[in-house]
Amino acid sequence: MGDDFAERVLAWYRRHGRQGLPWQVRDPYVRWLSEVMLQQTTVTAARPYFERFLAAFPTVQALARASQDEVLAQWAGLGYYARARNLHAAAQLIVARHGGGFPRRVEDWVALPGIGPSTAAAIVAFAFDVQAPILDANVRRVLSRYHGIKGADAGASHALWAHARAHTPARDVSAYTQAIMDLGALVCRKAPRCAACPIAAGCAFDGKDPPAARRARPERAVFWAVLHDPGRGVLLARRPASGIWGGLWSLPEAPVLNDLPAVLEALGLTGRLGPPSAPIHHAFTHFRLTITPVPVVAAAPGPGVAENRDVVWYKGEGPAPGVPAPVRRLLNRLLEAP
Ligand code: SF4
Repeated sequence: MGDDFAERVLAWYRRHGRQGLPWQVRDPYVRWLSEVMLQQTTVTAARPYFERFLAAFPTVQALARASQDEVLAQWAGLGYYARARNLHAAAQLIVARHGGGFPRRVEDWVALPGIGPSTAAAIVAFAFDVQAPILDANVRRVLSRYHGIKGADAGASHALWAHARAHTPARDVSAYTQAIMDLGALVCRKAPRCAACPIAAGCAFDGKDPPAARRARPERAVFWAVLHDPGRGVLLARRPASGIWGGLWSLPEAPVLNDLPAVLEALGLTGRLGPPSAPIHHAFTHFRLTITPVPVVAAAPGPGVAENRDVVWYKGEGPAPGVPAPVRRLLNRLLEAP
């Protein structure tokens, strides 16, 4: 069964699969970087980031040597920043543990931060043609439909891994891995295109996916203090290392408007809050964030906040700090305004 399945998927891939992508090379560093970027990002969105990131850090040694700020600055806008922090930490471990060489075993990759079993398998399959099954979200959907596996419990997961193992061929592993990923992304999509599917004969899909656990995303609110000094720029504060946007630069914030003066005072600033601006909405996987920017009119003779490793003034000149997308949009608006 496994051979015929793989043959059909491979034959389809040679005619219809995604080829010529910049990361489709036999280089473990490139494959690792692209797999991490593609975890929660589409190919189209990831591509320009991938090219810029690789130009900034062309080798694992360069990535290991960089500061976290430099890494986050290149990642800024891609979201899910834990991926960048883990990539950086893993680069340092690869240099320390493996002398900068890349392991060929799935278990060595899984021992690095931010790399699960499916990502690890994809890296060794792509880079070294090691026979290792993958089970990312796309492949999981293909195999659950094909084998008629309902549910998302541990038993279903166990069965899916067993099928993934049985289907993964001993030869052409790299091509097969890309092929099964592409089949899930292009044909066996949420709304499947079964008429174009190479494994339709034998597929057990009855038109009903297991009901997805739909949860309304909770709402959170936050207030940003916008201190824009014409001479120095916009005041940015570094976020805590963990939590959303960990380690990135953002505006000083408080969960309620009345707490903002105390936050500013802790930075050595006294001033008066102006009327709040129109809110900015940002969706995370697990919640929605409503951000209300609040202009701050600093007490004369001017803002007295000194820069340190957690506070900077940004004028839009020099290397851009790592900031999340909503901060970037707000900065563009503030700094481009006449
Ligand atoms: S036949 Fe349809 S449901 Fe079955 S694997 Fe192919 S695209 Fe998916």
